[in-house]
Amino acid sequence: MNAAMSEIARRLSVVRSTLPEGVGLVAVSKFHPVEALREAYDAGQRAFGESRVQELLAKMPQMPSDTRWHFIGHLQTNKLKQIVGRVELIESVDSLRLLDLIDELSERRSVVSKVLMQVHVAAEQTKFGFDPDELVGWFAAHGYETLRATHICGLMGMATNTDDLGRVADDFRRIADTRRRILVAAPDLRGFDTLSMGMSDDYRVAVEAGSTLVRVGTAIFGERQY
Ligand SMILES: *Cc1c(COP(=O)(O)O)cnc(C)c1O
Repeated sequence: MNAAMSEIARRLSVVRSTLPEGVGLVAVSKFHPVEALREAYDAGQRAFGESRVQELLAKMPQMPSDTRWHFIGHLQTNKLKQIVGRVELIESVDSLRLLDLIDELSERRSVVSKVLMQVHVAAEQTKFGFDPDELVGWFAAHGYETLRATHICGLMGMATNTDDLGRVADDFRRIADTRRRILVAAPDLRGFDTLSMGMSDDYRVAVEAGSTLVRVGTAIFGERQY
């Protein structure tokens, strides 16, 4: 390994080397300074995940223009106007009201927003997202057909925060299964391919369960500085 390689570049290459072909990597850079993001960028990383609008907006102008931003946190509707049209993917749509507002604003701005619907399967009460059955029901009723400027590209979800990897695997399989059920309920859906699952401690389990996009922070950037 190159001795001059930064610690971040080294960790990034370790994570990449464990991902099968076709699984994308979002480097979750929340709470890390722009210098850290630049190191990852210089090592070839282009997709970065942020969970707070203010932090995202502060970092955006400091990074090269081909940086691709994913919004991965709970999005307050009053902050929407600051990010619609400026990010590659909103991964955390957790209510139909948010979806409708994204769509309205996207249409008004003549952009198409790509989004993921967040599914809640974890044991924690605090995690946002749709109940799997309710979400399947919404797709079965073709709720998405009223969207004019929003493309739902798939699902995002988190597993229960536990050392029990069996439970974690069950959670991820349930999210993957929700995607399959949605495709059965709405066979005309197109481009509903993305399964964003897996973080530093569980992305290998997530990939086993069918993840196509992992969101890894700590394993690349180290502990966050809150
Ligand atoms: C913070 C965060 C991550 C990354 O977590 P790590 O454990 O640092 O890899 C992934 N997804 C979401 C939604 C997050 O908020």
